[in-house]
Amino acid sequence: MEYISTRGAAPVLDFEDTLLAGLARDGGLYVPQNWPSLPTEQIKAFAGQSYADIATQVIKPFTGDCVSEAELSEITHRAYGGFNHPQIAPLHHLHDQHYLLELFHGPTLAFKDIAMQLLAVLMDRALARRNQRATIVGATSGDTGGAAIEAFRGADAADIFILYPKGRVSDVQRKQMTTPDEPNVHAIAIDGTFDDCQALVKDMFNHAAFRDRVNLAGVNSINWVRVMAQTVYYFTSAVALGGPETKISFSVPTGNFGDIFAGYVAKQMGLPIDRLMIATNVNDILARTLATGAYTMGDVVATSSPSMDIQISSNFERLLFDAADRDPAVVSTYMAALKSDHSFIIAPDQLHKIRALFDAHRVDQAHTSDLMQQVFARYAYLLDPHTAVGYGAAQALNGDTPVVTLATAHPAKFPDAVVKATGIYPEPPALVAEALKRPEREIAVANDLTQLEEFIAAHSRVSA
Ligand SMILES: *Cc1c(COP(=O)(O)O)cnc(C)c1O
Repeated sequence: MEYISTRGAAPVLDFEDTLLAGLARDGGLYVPQNWPSLPTEQIKAFAGQSYADIATQVIKPFTGDCVSEAELSEITHRAYGGFNHPQIAPLHHLHDQHYLLELFHGPTLAFKDIAMQLLAVLMDRALARRNQRATIVGATSGDTGGAAIEAFRGADAADIFILYPKGRVSDVQRKQMTTPDEPNVHAIAIDGTFDDCQALVKDMFNHAAFRDRVNLAGVNSINWVRVMAQTVYYFTSAVALGGPETKISFSVPTGNFGDIFAGYVAKQMGLPIDRLMIATNVNDILARTLATGAYTMGDVVATSSPSMDIQISSNFERLLFDAADRDPAVVSTYMAALKSDHSFIIAPDQLHKIRALFDAHRVDQAHTSDLMQQVFARYAYLLDPHTAVGYGAAQALNGDTPVVTLATAHPAKFPDAVVKATGIYPEPPALVAEALKRPEREIAVANDLTQLEEFIAAHSRVSA
């Protein structure tokens, strides 16, 4: 399988180079040259198989010759060996045709573990095979950093440095980053905002001499392998509900569009999906886009579902590429307009194609809180605020198709919002609570590129 950039001016790469490259050199995102399809009989046979075995089969066509089936099977079993639930991503029947897909049984209690655990194993193996080391640098507003550190702690070939805004992440989020004591883990508190952290990371990637010196690698949500890993649970959940004979709809709490794009990929691979609902909080750029065709940036508003507080949904570029019949010139024009005018208008035929599969619905703060309260009162189930947004949007879908809402975080990850809505304090699983009692290692570095690069070079095993 070969990978091409949505902007058409970066080299064509194989799976392993795509994994290590992250962003394409032309600023675009890598996508497979074509969508592989799985025979209906194979999908049917998923019923009753383990999550790791289904993952091996769904992922195999994307890896091409880079990973053999036997190796991939070993990798998926290793990646999903440390979850808190034997099914990895179990379904919970809420009522009538409404189901929740619990994606929060990984070590940091958010769905990002599912992709990050696999990415880390694949990356460490690819580096070892090439006899290379890499330095992973990322910025986090909370969830991604913990998931990345948890996945890469103790890796043989990678060191990880995560920048987070000092005093601006929750206690649980900070402890998830500062309590792992492996020497390859470095959680760095930056005296600044999340935007400052992101700008520092961007500057490091644009600083070619530094980039080469420490062999920088990225694991943010535009890395193709994260999207790929997320397609798996669309298959496992649909099959558990009678797919592929029955069509299923999904409602997905959306920020960067990575999770829901994985549903689009599953559909291209042959999984019968009826509707994909883009659930947004008041940061509703995608809901406005689907309604009007104008993709226009607004100001970010802080909400109780912070992982969805975004202005730009990076992975939407991958959908635009397909909607424009994979014409990189169209995508490049849109992205140039977004940069210069903070806005672009999607051509009517492309918008029509997007609407043929996707809906979008916005759920505001008060409604999110009401839904958390109602679901607890009626079904004794605690929703985290992101999942509540997904459930609210699911109710806007008509018809009698079963609807699966992706439950993207454990309620214990956002206790303040849960207590406020329901009066109940959500307890984290015992193993996670225990781990958070380990001593913290907080590293502080000034909000300054030179000092940060010096710190990273001094602590990275690449430059040692
Ligand atoms: C990251 C995240 C999301 C948004 O997912 P995207 O792939 O960025 O759309 C939703 N909920 C939670 C809890 C998250 O951590």
